[in-house]
Amino acid sequence: MHSFMLPPSETFAELTRAARERILILDGAMGTMIQTLGLDEDAFLGGGGGHSCAIHSDHPQQGNNDLLSLTQPEAIEEIHYAFAMAGADIVETNTFSSTVIAQADYALTHQVQALNVAAAQAARRAMDRATAQDGRRRWVAGAVGPTNRTASISPDVNDPGYRAVTFDDLRRAYGEQIRALIEGGVDLILIETIFDTLNAKAAVFACFEAFAEHGRRLPIMISGTITDASGRTLSGQTPTAFWHSVRHARPFTVGLNCALGADAMRPHLAELAGVADTLVCAYPNAGLPNAFGEYDEAPAQTAAKVEVFAREGLVNVVGGCCGTTPEHIREIAAAVAGHAPRRLEETADA
Ligand SMILES: [Zn+2]
Repeated sequence: MHSFMLPPSETFAELTRAARERILILDGAMGTMIQTLGLDEDAFLGGGGGHSCAIHSDHPQQGNNDLLSLTQPEAIEEIHYAFAMAGADIVETNTFSSTVIAQADYALTHQVQALNVAAAQAARRAMDRATAQDGRRRWVAGAVGPTNRTASISPDVNDPGYRAVTFDDLRRAYGEQIRALIEGGVDLILIETIFDTLNAKAAVFACFEAFAEHGRRLPIMISGTITDASGRTLSGQTPTAFWHSVRHARPFTVGLNCALGADAMRPHLAELAGVADTLVCAYPNAGLPNAFGEYDEAPAQTAAKVEVFAREGLVNVVGGCCGTTPEHIREIAAAVAGHAPRRLEETADA
């Protein structure tokens, strides 16, 4: 059975209703917040604080942010909670690299299932606490990153036909991740920071397979990233071509994130909003990185730029990527609150 014939999860109706009323707010950068904690190797492994789920590894784990969902779950939950209380309607799980492909770098492929379940549960706990506080419904998006390999392009200049990963490798890896995210209780799936559309198509395929097993269709958000000045993804697509490549997924949103600050993203976002017959999402970085790779655009600056998206009627969901803190999200939420969401013709298959 094709997954479009499956009954939709109740999240579809809730999100569609909310998105009709206002611009929804996505959270900011988990990585930026983790950095401020200054965790050392021991903390990444779950030691020091008497955590029960300490990991034993011969491979250094410092910098493996996704591991913290298992070894420092309270810290991850607090970051989600801070974003929720700053105004995020949707928070992303700490699972950007929680696939066997990305975790191979840390020799932690055997923990992938546990990482995804724990990350989804940490986000869920934070959202439940926030909702108990103020009564607002919030949603957890299972974050699915691009992996560190590309299915379309050879990493070897002397062998253009070589591929470091295949569609089927990606489909299987994403499938394992998405099933675990669903098991952990996510409301939707967010396939993000797409630089290679073929990788994203494998993730979409894996969603279809996982939904069929689950017996319910979850909303999918799809977000590409523009990596060069000519306005193309790494695999060479314009925003219009990108939309036509993923449209078959009938995503709840399509959009852009990362790579560029809001200024440079605007024309590409406008192009996408002009062709997509679904909701549009944008979450730029806090400007461009400085010489140290840090983002120093102030919350009010980022918010003013994101407000332009809203004023021009380009967006239905906005948030922040690299460098954005709860204060950025608070300012963004305030800046777009007075603007109507981008209008979309009613379609039959919501
Ligand atoms: Zn980013």
